[in-house]
Amino acid sequence: MTSIFSKIIAREIPATILYEDELVIAFKDINPIAPVHVLIVPKREIPTVNDALPEDEPALGRLFTVAAKLAAEMGIAESGYRLMVNCNKDGGQEVFHLHMHLLGGKRLGRMLAE
Ligand code: 5GP
Repeated sequence: MTSIFSKIIAREIPATILYEDELVIAFKDINPIAPVHVLIVPKREIPTVNDALPEDEPALGRLFTVAAKLAAEMGIAESGYRLMVNCNKDGGQEVFHLHMHLLGGKRLGRMLAE
């Protein structure tokens, strides 16, 4: 089954794309929970962190460098931000295509909501 994020990569559904290269894509979250809420996604459809392979390491590393680049471009590098990857049910994962959340633009408060 093709994930909703693969459909964004294939331009089958729209998204506000902020960055793309051969390994990853980044676009605005459709339901932002902070003034800056960007999803950075490996192009290979890795369902969860549990499914990451050694050969995914270049793409997984790229998530961080793209997060830092976008944070700088969006003016939150100095004020700060949070990078988050959810895994499976207890982690609150909803889309089973591994992705990193870049969250910022306000004080994010406690690490866990509950
Ligand atoms: P998760 O809970 O899996 O870590 O986060 C999934 C995120 O994907 C949520 O923040 C949700 O708002 C976002 N999302 C779900 N569907 C879409 C979509 O079709 N487009 C975009 N841009 N974001 C989506």
